[in-house]
Amino acid sequence: MENKEYRVLLYYHYVTIENPEELTQQHLEFCKSIGLKGRILIAHEGINGTVSGTVEQTNQYMEHMKADPRFKDMVYKIDEADEHAFKKMHVRHRPELVTLRLEEDVNPLELTGKYYSPKEFYEAMQQEDTVVIDARNEYEYDLGHFKNAIKPEIQSFKELPQWIRENREKFENKKILTYCTGGVRCEKFSGWLRKEGFEDVAQLHGGIVTYGKDPEVQGELWDGQCYVFDERISVPVNRVNPVVVGKDYFTGEPCERYVNCANPECNKQILCSEENEHKYLRSCSDECREHPRNRYIAEHGLTEEEVKERLGALV
Ligand SMILES: [Zn+2]
Repeated sequence: MENKEYRVLLYYHYVTIENPEELTQQHLEFCKSIGLKGRILIAHEGINGTVSGTVEQTNQYMEHMKADPRFKDMVYKIDEADEHAFKKMHVRHRPELVTLRLEEDVNPLELTGKYYSPKEFYEAMQQEDTVVIDARNEYEYDLGHFKNAIKPEIQSFKELPQWIRENREKFENKKILTYCTGGVRCEKFSGWLRKEGFEDVAQLHGGIVTYGKDPEVQGELWDGQCYVFDERISVPVNRVNPVVVGKDYFTGEPCERYVNCANPECNKQILCSEENEHKYLRSCSDECREHPRNRYIAEHGLTEEEVKERLGALV
């Protein structure tokens, strides 16, 4: 590891928390008191967080958590960073750690897929009669994914069960491998798959982030970058033979730069070069470009004539 001043911690732990509201409040105060920034979710079923801070602050956090019997076994994925990866500190209480909204909830402590190490996952991916399902959203897949992984056409995690049911024939009698960023979604999703009657289900333990750090596999068979939910937006995974799979929304050219559509009501994530950001007013459609509260137009102080001229150039 290099010696940078900051660190980003990614972690989750499924454990029954009796008083999640109370813990949420206490935890926010503690995190603020040590100067941490980030986003943490606390639910009756556990904790899920990404935080950033100096090496000292993050050590303090991990020590604090280790002293609590509920979180003493929590695993942290640690990235070095030059600065904070968040602007603020949020701790929120949620009914579930990942939003699946199943009619019957799955408790990963009782039912989940087999845990595969990066090496086991790497080998299993190359076996016959195996399907690899990306348990993330489309915009995450589009920036990078395992070679040959199936991309569910969903905009949010809660649509995944329905999508699997509609495409059941693709997975019947096959070995199913699932993966997500850090593993928290697959704990539930792989458990749900087993409940649905799929027998041979395994999940990538520690997620893509762990896979990219593994000294043996070194991220091999991963194409593109890994989308992350902080200001870094993406992190590298494949250290053997990296390629770019992201495509510019406007031109289809290789691109790994995400921006949000400047129409605040759309806010869609699109991959685009700096050049095209300016050309298309950072907006995904004509409708968004002409939106009265377009953020790009406001940020650049464009007059009505200037906007007209830019739009005219696109026709
Ligand atoms: Zn838009």
